[in-house]
Amino acid sequence: MLADKQTPSTIDIGTARVRRLDISFSKTLSTDQHGFSERLRLLTLRLQTSLELDRLLDFFFEEVSNLVPLRALSYSHSGTDFQLQIGEANGFDVSYSLSHSGDCLGELCLFSSQYVPDPVLEQLENALDCLLFPLRNALLYRQAVQASLKDPLTGAGNRAAMVHALSRETELSRRHSQAVSVIMLDMDHFKRLNDTYGHQAGDAALKATALLLKEQLRNVDMVFRFGGEEFVLVLSNSGPEAAAVVAERIRAAIQNLCLLVGDKQVRLSASLGCATHQPGESQDDLLRRADQALYQAKQDGRNLTRVASA
Ligand code: GH3
Ligand code: MG
Ligand code: MG
Repeated sequence: MLADKQTPSTIDIGTARVRRLDISFSKTLSTDQHGFSERLRLLTLRLQTSLELDRLLDFFFEEVSNLVPLRALSYSHSGTDFQLQIGEANGFDVSYSLSHSGDCLGELCLFSSQYVPDPVLEQLENALDCLLFPLRNALLYRQAVQASLKDPLTGAGNRAAMVHALSRETELSRRHSQAVSVIMLDMDHFKRLNDTYGHQAGDAALKATALLLKEQLRNVDMVFRFGGEEFVLVLSNSGPEAAAVVAERIRAAIQNLCLLVGDKQVRLSASLGCATHQPGESQDDLLRRADQALYQAKQDGRNLTRVASA
């Protein structure tokens, strides 16, 4: 049954649970099956010790490798943007679409160096059953963590996420001697927009701006909502010149954005300040310099980009 490039089997958590109970309580198990049942019990216990997806899959891979000579495991869950590969993905493969009550629990693919006969494949699938509930819990946990780091209005990262990302990026920049820059962006005359067109129009403008920022940046760059109508962008591996180019591109794109409020076309603009991290500089000082450059852009007339001095 295990063969190259099969159509994924579907494992549903509801039926999986029934099958696991069958294994635990069956009175007809052979001695060998009892040994296997004990292994499943240990696997289940181990899988209960973590809510981290990568640890769970590591445990699973290790334990299942005792049953089948596994070469690799690959797993992905698009809903939480998670992907993991353990080992080198070649050989015989078997794929599963995991689900619970219609919710996708991800796509799992196991690679074996040898052909796996049906009885062993059945054991492997019983082991897979043990993974489903811990996997569902780990996905819920990941979703909760992701939600706690997101601004609900715009979907951009929130301030807590920004602090976390900036610490990581400045540490990486220190270790690899790579530049990291921040851009602080503040919408111009936003109070006036709210007063003229209403708060809902203001909210729509913030959402549209956040979307535009994500579209304008590379995958490695990050967008955070810093406060009311202020965003912070973290540009990894980018010095002052690159940051200024990105900021200017964003400023021009916001200027060209056309927000439709009823039958009215509303134009937006923003002012931006860039700063590049200096060796030994604290996160607060870096943000302060970006804020000063932003202040300068406001002073100079708005809808402008300014770069902080070192
Ligand atoms: P400046 O060009 O000097 O930045 O002027 P401004 O009007 O943008 O700045 P100010 O700080 O005076 O006003 C910011 C406005 O942003 C006031 C506040 O009501 C609005 N704002 C903050 N958060 C939100 C939000 O989540 N939704 C909406 N609609 N408005 C918001
Ligand atoms: Mg502001
Ligand atoms: Mg403003």
